[in-house]
Amino acid sequence: EDPLLEISDLRTHFFTREGTVRAVDGVSLTVPRGKTVCVVGESGCGKSVTARSVLGLVDEPGRIVSGEIWWRRRGQEPVNLAQLGPRSEEMRRVRGGEISMVFQEPMASLSPMYTIGDQLVEAIRMHLPLTQEQARERATDLLRRAGIPRAEERLDAYSFQLSGGMCQRVMIAIALAADPALLIADEPTTALDVTTQARIIDLLRDLQAETGMSVLFITHDLGVVAEIADEVVVMYLGTVVERGGVDEIFHDPKHPYTNALLGSIPRMGAGAGRRLATIRGNVPHPSDRPAGCPFHPRCDAAIGGVCDVSDPPHIVFGEARSVRCVLHDDVHRSSAAEVRA
Ligand code: SF4
Ligand code: MG
Repeated sequence: EDPLLEISDLRTHFFTREGTVRAVDGVSLTVPRGKTVCVVGESGCGKSVTARSVLGLVDEPGRIVSGEIWWRRRGQEPVNLAQLGPRSEEMRRVRGGEISMVFQEPMASLSPMYTIGDQLVEAIRMHLPLTQEQARERATDLLRRAGIPRAEERLDAYSFQLSGGMCQRVMIAIALAADPALLIADEPTTALDVTTQARIIDLLRDLQAETGMSVLFITHDLGVVAEIADEVVVMYLGTVVERGGVDEIFHDPKHPYTNALLGSIPRMGAGAGRRLATIRGNVPHPSDRPAGCPFHPRCDAAIGGVCDVSDPPHIVFGEARSVRCVLHDDVHRSSAAEVRA
C-alpha cells in the first residue's frame, strides 16, 4: 500500500454542557493512492466527524483532542493536518486544492445568488492561475466530464433551475476544479432517488479511474459500498470495528456488527414477502457509551462478563485487515470459555 492519507488514533470530542461527546474515539484508517475507501456505519457513528476532522471543519464545541492525520504528498515531507490551524495558509492550500469534499445536500452547498458558472470559475481561479476566459473553458470541460448535457448553457443557470442530481454533478465538478489528490464524499447520493444515485456512483467511479485520485466515501449503505469500494472501514460509536478489502468484508465479515449490517442490505428481487433483517436496538448516543465493547447491548454473540466489561482486543490480520472483537482473539477466547464454564 502507498498511503496518501493516514489517520492514526484520531479523537475528536465535543465539549457540551451535558458532558463530553466522544464522537470520534480512536479512529485509524488509511487511504492508499488511487483507491476508494468506504467508511460505513449507521448514522451517529462518527463517519462525518472523521471526514470533517481531516479538513479542519469540525464545528464548535468540537475539537481534535489527540491523534494524527498524515497527508503524504508525493516526494514531500508528510504534513500532520491535525496540527494545522483550520484557517492556516497550509490548510487552505490543502482544502479544496489537494483535498476536496462533496456533501449530502448539493442544493444547500450551492449559492442561489450566483450562476453555476460563476461558482465554478471562482473555485477554479482560487486554486489555479488561470484567466477568466481560461477558467470558463475549464468550467465547461468540468461540467461535461461530470456528465452534464449542454454544459456551456448550464454555466449561466442557477442552482434552483437544476434537479438535485444535476446539482450534485455541479458540486462534483466544483470539487474537481483543482484536480484534487483526494475527494471526500460524505453521503453524496443519500438525498437522491435510486436511479440518480446509481448514475452519480457511476460518475464518481469513472472520474476516479480517469484522474487516478483517491476517494474517501462515507455512506450508511452497503449496497453503495459494493459498487464503489476497494477497501472498507466499518465504524461503530466512534471506533473502527473492522477493516478489510471489499471482497473480504462481503464474503468473510468478521465483526458481528458487519454481519448485522450485511443482513440488513435490501436484496434485489428478494420478493415482497421476505422480511429484511434489521439490527435490533438503536445506536446509543456517544455520550452514553456502554462499558466494554460498545456493540455488546446489540450483539447476539456477546459473552457475559467479558464483552460488557473489557474493551475488545484489536486483532490485526494484515496491513488493511483488522477487527475489534473478542471472538477472533485466541487468548481472550479461551478465557471467555472459562468465564462461561
Ligand atoms: Fe459482540 Fe463481544 Fe465481539 Fe463486541 S466483542 S462484537 S459484544 S462478541
Ligand atoms: Mg453523517
